[in-house]
Amino acid sequence: MDLFSALYPFVFCSLASGSSGNSYYIGNGDEGLLIDAGISSRRIVKSLAENGISMSQVKAVLVTHDHSDHIKGLAVLANKYKLAVMATPDCLKGISQHPLAAELDIDLMHEIKTRKPFHLSGLEVTAFRVPHDGSGNVGYHIRNSHASLTIATDLGFLTDEVIHYLKAATAIVLESNYDEEMLQNGSYPPHLKQRIRSNQGHLSNADAAAFLQQHFHQGIQHIFLCHLSQHNNRPELARESALQALNGSTALANLAVTVLPRGQRSPLFHL
Ligand SMILES: [Zn+2]
Ligand SMILES: [Zn+2]
Repeated sequence: MDLFSALYPFVFCSLASGSSGNSYYIGNGDEGLLIDAGISSRRIVKSLAENGISMSQVKAVLVTHDHSDHIKGLAVLANKYKLAVMATPDCLKGISQHPLAAELDIDLMHEIKTRKPFHLSGLEVTAFRVPHDGSGNVGYHIRNSHASLTIATDLGFLTDEVIHYLKAATAIVLESNYDEEMLQNGSYPPHLKQRIRSNQGHLSNADAAAFLQQHFHQGIQHIFLCHLSQHNNRPELARESALQALNGSTALANLAVTVLPRGQRSPLFHL
């Protein structure tokens, strides 16, 4: 760990990542934020504890959108620990109408605006729009004075706005949902295949690779591939696709490429 990392800790872990459930933690060493709560409250608390983080350190939940795999545990967790739930107005509306999250205490809901930075737990947070078929979908760019992380998950394609925030970060959490061939040859019905591929669906391994090929620069030190499909992808395919796109840059830049596990937590990363 270098001097700046010791002075300004910036930690990240995934508690679950993929179509069965998503939740991430990002913190400054003393406290931090969850991004999404798409697994049970009990599992979030347990997984955080295994990484040495207690619920007293968690100050809020930032929500990306209102699909079940991002909000399944939200109401129970937020109500129990009195956590602020921050999301766009459309997303909050979607959450309050969702059968799995309708119990969420309305007093805990806080509206955020896209592209308007705000401060929480010593971190600066900016939400940005992503194209997807949930309500009020966003990604997040989160920074301290030393490091920054952009999470872009559940999006059909990479807009200029998304690319801007990905390029601005020292660590990126980028969706790599499906392998085109596995999706094509898989058992999903045609309408579902079409939905996943659409501009409001998900990013493929090739989409993530195209971003890296065109926009990777040496300021990006960590690449986390997230939200892998259970049926239409394999971790080694996603990783290989990204590494090929980087074409040797990993050695040059001392870069780490990590595929976040679907069904279990990652370790705590010091960024
Ligand atoms: Zn999702
Ligand atoms: Zn979604």
